[in-house]
Amino acid sequence: MIGFEGSFLGAQDKISPQAIMECKICWTPYDPGEGDDYRQIDPGTAFADLPGDWSCPNCGAPKAQFMVLEDPGAEAAAEAAWIEALGAKLVAEFREIWHSKMRDVPMVNTRLSIEAIGFRLYDGRPLGVLISPWFMNLIQLPGKNEDWRDLTSGDKEIIGFPSGEYEFIHNTREMIGGYKACSLFSPMGEFATQMQAQEVARAVMLALFDEANRAPSDRAADIRAAREAELAPKDAPEPPAPSRRAVITGGMAETG
Ligand code: FE
Repeated sequence: MIGFEGSFLGAQDKISPQAIMECKICWTPYDPGEGDDYRQIDPGTAFADLPGDWSCPNCGAPKAQFMVLEDPGAEAAAEAAWIEALGAKLVAEFREIWHSKMRDVPMVNTRLSIEAIGFRLYDGRPLGVLISPWFMNLIQLPGKNEDWRDLTSGDKEIIGFPSGEYEFIHNTREMIGGYKACSLFSPMGEFATQMQAQEVARAVMLALFDEANRAPSDRAADIRAAREAELAPKDAPEPPAPSRRAVITGGMAETG
């Protein structure tokens, strides 16, 4: 590491883009909200994005002589780092399973790899999609003060989202502890590339939180449904209602 001094010790990735920094020599602050007129730095420029030769506009001390005055974005940055670390652990766990147990199983799609997509907090718990060569699942991980190591594998739980309710299955693993999984696709034969799987995973995360995907229950929809029933041939079988999961997976075939 470069010999940065000051309280952030050169760890520019540990400060958020909103961090207000202060020259350790003359106490001149750098506020990203204001930028730096002297060096024609636009407002909105994070300290980490200042040019390497930027220096204190008052005393000329180099960037390395600045330390954190206050960091309004620190909490959000710490939370994002926590979610990312959990996602990385989840990926490591399933890579281990992939290499030790699944590689030679015929149903796996070797064009795909283990990847965590779109993890974010929902009700204080990280939630996202895990792609693997043999499944794509929605995964919920325990919140900050929760310990899910005692979950009973195979237990089922309904979890509600803006788009509807979904069945999750409890599971435990060595590294990650406990987690809850909702199967989206399995096996994964229909995916030609990792990029295609990523796109579907991102679309699932959007659809999951989109209230427009909730089953229609409003009066207008009831009336429309009644009219459609009247117009339909009397002996025609009712079309099956799409499952909640089918709605968020965009109608891609479910072969689970
Ligand atoms: Fe200074």
